[in-house]
Amino acid sequence: MQYRVLEKLGYKISALSFGAMRLPTSFALAVDKKKAVATIRKAVELGINYFDTAYIYHLGASEKVLGEALGNGVRKNVYIADKLPMILMRKTEDFDRFLETQLERLGTDYIDFYLFHNLNQGYFDKLLALGLFEKMEQAKKRGLIRHIGFSFHDTLPVFKKIVDAYPWDLAQIQYNYLDTAMQATTEGLHYAAKKKIPVAVMEGLKGGMLADPPKEAKDIMRSAASKKTPVEWAFQFLWNLPEVATVLSGMGSPAMVEENCGYAERSGVGILSGSDMETIEKLVSTYRKKILVDCTACRYCMPCPYGVNIPDNFAMLNNANGRGGIIGWLLLRRYKKFAVRPDKVNKEDPDGAASLCTKCGVCVKKCPQSINIPEELTRVDMVMGRGKRISDVFQR
Ligand code: SF4
Ligand code: SF4
Repeated sequence: MQYRVLEKLGYKISALSFGAMRLPTSFALAVDKKKAVATIRKAVELGINYFDTAYIYHLGASEKVLGEALGNGVRKNVYIADKLPMILMRKTEDFDRFLETQLERLGTDYIDFYLFHNLNQGYFDKLLALGLFEKMEQAKKRGLIRHIGFSFHDTLPVFKKIVDAYPWDLAQIQYNYLDTAMQATTEGLHYAAKKKIPVAVMEGLKGGMLADPPKEAKDIMRSAASKKTPVEWAFQFLWNLPEVATVLSGMGSPAMVEENCGYAERSGVGILSGSDMETIEKLVSTYRKKILVDCTACRYCMPCPYGVNIPDNFAMLNNANGRGGIIGWLLLRRYKKFAVRPDKVNKEDPDGAASLCTKCGVCVKKCPQSINIPEELTRVDMVMGRGKRISDVFQR
């Protein structure tokens, strides 16, 4: 494993870190505990020393499973990042309740990096109004947390404002070769680095989209001078940058951990050649033509009270874009398997089609990508459900 030194703290953090937002699941999306524990332990064995979770991931099961996997003395050798659920904060005192629950779930006395989860302008205003910097400082004095940071989903001006507001020990941003101009952007990454704030990168594969490229992107990778899998292209792009402290990856099996650790092992700042960067530029323009809805499948918008499977509807549309022939037909057939009547929706694992959206708006504020979900679902229904042409529905 390659390690990167956090200049400000003197810590050595693995270039690849473990994101526990998408643990392996079994029936009804419950965490497959046995497999998840085995996956996390494989990560420890191969040198990963930074583990990221949050109060809301898997409805609390992420913290519990992580705590269990890091038992038997392992915990003291690794760093844990956990997050205060800003979406659930109503009053200042909620801070103590959440932190206490999180320490208990994790089975630990302290959290290394405690982050305000999903800061945007609205949640930053809430943080100030509830006096949460003071609560963080108190928890730090009591030894319950060691460092204070934030994860971020908003625009560059908001990112700069938040960076300037506090002497942070960590910022977690969404970044990948497609999103260099989105959210914190490349400029924000440099801005944080200039202030010596270590940056952990999430969504390096854009919700899995970069791991499963369309045929045109695969052709570009095949003809590149340097042979890499789609996942490796995405990760090496990030590790190439000196401003990136670590790259989070939600790994679903020990085999995936092994594979990703192999990529991390041959990573390094500045190792991509000019020809590699040209390949990435070609990939960016190919993907840009394919993506109709910028959903990262984070599932923060779920559940929908009417049973719409929001991320799967968007994924289906993005996959279908530009695919004709048998593959296009197969995708349409798969789309027809979504439930189109409320009484037919699978209650355990909602599988409702876009047409079931009532435009209630419950999901909209939860989306870190600021997607107008009801509007985009209407378009999904027009294309996938009613056979309209993409070019007529999406003016790009
Ligand atoms: S707006 Fe549509 S998709 Fe969103 S929660 Fe309401 S019904 Fe569900
Ligand atoms: S629509 Fe937004 S919140 Fe829902 S899965 Fe996609 S990116 Fe996440």
